[in-house]
Amino acid sequence: VKGFDVEKIREDFPILHQEVNGHPLVYLDNAATTQKPNAVIDAISDYYRGYNSNVHRGAHALSDKATAGFEGARDTLAAFINSPSREQVLWTRGTTEAINLVAFTWGKQNLEAGDRVLVSNLEHHSNIVPWQMVAQEKGASVVAIPVSDSGAIDLDAFKALLVSNEGPVKFVSVGHVSNALGTVNPVEEIVALSHEVGAKVLIDGAQSVGHWAVDVQALDCDFFAFSGHKMFGPTGIGVLWGKRDLLEAMPPYQGGGEMIETVSFEGTTYNALPYKYEAGTPDIAGAIGLAAAVDYLNSFDREAAVAHENDLLQYAWQKAEGFAGLTRVGTAPKVAGVFSFLLNGAHPSDVGMLIDQQGVAVRTGHHCAQPLMARLGIPGTVRASFSFYNNRNDVDRLFEALEKAKTFLV
Ligand code: PMP
Repeated sequence: VKGFDVEKIREDFPILHQEVNGHPLVYLDNAATTQKPNAVIDAISDYYRGYNSNVHRGAHALSDKATAGFEGARDTLAAFINSPSREQVLWTRGTTEAINLVAFTWGKQNLEAGDRVLVSNLEHHSNIVPWQMVAQEKGASVVAIPVSDSGAIDLDAFKALLVSNEGPVKFVSVGHVSNALGTVNPVEEIVALSHEVGAKVLIDGAQSVGHWAVDVQALDCDFFAFSGHKMFGPTGIGVLWGKRDLLEAMPPYQGGGEMIETVSFEGTTYNALPYKYEAGTPDIAGAIGLAAAVDYLNSFDREAAVAHENDLLQYAWQKAEGFAGLTRVGTAPKVAGVFSFLLNGAHPSDVGMLIDQQGVAVRTGHHCAQPLMARLGIPGTVRASFSFYNNRNDVDRLFEALEKAKTFLV
């Protein structure tokens, strides 16, 4: 792809340059977690070596520096998703905690018996189970939006669910991109339709932020959740973005230091946004590392990177066509970064093990999406997932490894 030098990019990722099981590593498990560029590793290391201190408490220089780094990271993330203000960017441990936060604050405050929460049949367990937990407590129900055999959300069925007389739909929670199949969901349309019936919408952006630039204002969603580790940042840090009026109105999630204004046994008052939702000492190094990942992403042409990833996906699909016994899983009109498939009826984990022995890392199984696998009638898939640092050689190596694996499987 013009304007995108993948070999130069690969130099920024030290982990890619090693042998695994006697072969040069081919890392195709990016949907599980992405690798980290030197810029991120250095930012974390610099923090611990040079200015580790607790934030917001400082009566000393190092604490001031840590606070500046930590709050500066919030500014970086706010700009990254085009948040209208920095206070709407809440640090969480990741997507999972962000969704739990919304379920156990907004959900507890607003769901009533008989209400419905819609999630799609494609969702990751972390966008199903928190809703089930709060729905059970409230006497509400969680209803799945059907998906087609190709793995696309059925919009007509969704529209019917929104106006069904079986209970008001108060909340819709859908993924931006499916981690299991790569389906890109029509989230703008889902948001608009949901708002027509007065439902709030959360978009699980775990699998989109690592691919393209997200604009929360353009999406017009009410909440947007994502994880740092899936966008070249560290584990243990993520973001919940929310509309200001909603975040103002919701009760706190956890109690503790930092989230309070005053504490007394007569009654405690809570801090302003974003601190109301950030009890306890935060993941300071994580936030700083994640901001370094954003700065790194902003240092090159992301559209060219997306075009490069799409080229790899097309190349893999083309190779798959000529590969006897391979069945692609997930053939929706729009797919990002994921090549999910089955081989000759072989169990996905056997395929994964055989290609791992040849240095090729993929994920196998249900991908934390058991309801989707049940819908498709399969136990799981083999999933090769791409990032911008993968190259055509990685795809060639994947297919060479599959060719060899096949000789053991038939
Ligand atoms: N949603 C989706 C679509 C995901 O892919 C993942 C991670 N596999 C999650 C949620 C959960 O993210 P985390 O484990 O980082 O909290």
